[in-house]
Amino acid sequence: MKLFDSHAHYEDDQFSEDRHEKLEALRKSEVAMVLNCCSDVSVFDTIIEILDRHDFVYGSIGVHPHWVTRTPENFLDLIRRYAKHPKVAAIGEMGLDYFFDEPKPLQKRIFREQLELAKELDLPVIIHDRDAHEDVMEILEEYQPAGILHRFGGPVELLKKAFSLGMYVSFNNDLSYPAWRQPHIDCLMETPWERLLIETDCPFAPPFERSAERCESSDVKNVVSLIAKLRNVSEEFVAEISYENAKRVYRIGNP
Ligand SMILES: [Zn+2]
Repeated sequence: MKLFDSHAHYEDDQFSEDRHEKLEALRKSEVAMVLNCCSDVSVFDTIIEILDRHDFVYGSIGVHPHWVTRTPENFLDLIRRYAKHPKVAAIGEMGLDYFFDEPKPLQKRIFREQLELAKELDLPVIIHDRDAHEDVMEILEEYQPAGILHRFGGPVELLKKAFSLGMYVSFNNDLSYPAWRQPHIDCLMETPWERLLIETDCPFAPPFERSAERCESSDVKNVVSLIAKLRNVSEEFVAEISYENAKRVYRIGNP
């Protein structure tokens, strides 16, 4: 079985001691490809180092809404420069996060500017939405980008709108948490197979059984078995279709 973890954060400080060892160890696992997703200008160099050292890892470059207040004015020039790397396959993650207190107008401006830049560079986008569904969807309808709603937990009606724009959605081990899995399951049940990706968001989204630990890309296997059970299909089918979907949306040829 070949697995594609479509959203991981090996640039994160939680992997500062062992990110390259952890990535190399994946060669002995079923994880065949990883998309390392970017969050902040401060890690652009780390992302590029990861892409240069591990042939099966692709990446994105962009600014997460949580970090907008420390984002320098020239961030678009920086993204443009780093996105020239041949293994940068997307812009993001970008979007809106109303859970914390970052100013909404600034979040929206940086989100819109990255959507415009992604159009200019002809790259798909990775979208982060937390407690900002209506505003995110309004802006997506305006720009109609190619790309992925990451870790989306509803509402289902908005997800359907994203599908009508041609977007994909990625699921992770949120599906294992009794306290909040239902909205994610509702989204999963409405997702056409050809729009479904799997991810870990590692180190941030461990399976419920190990909720106190950091997770890693091999935990994407648990996402496959959860989806297979919930949709009553084989794990092989989920692995294969999500692998092909990830390659298509990130426009990655055969490795
Ligand atoms: Zn992320």
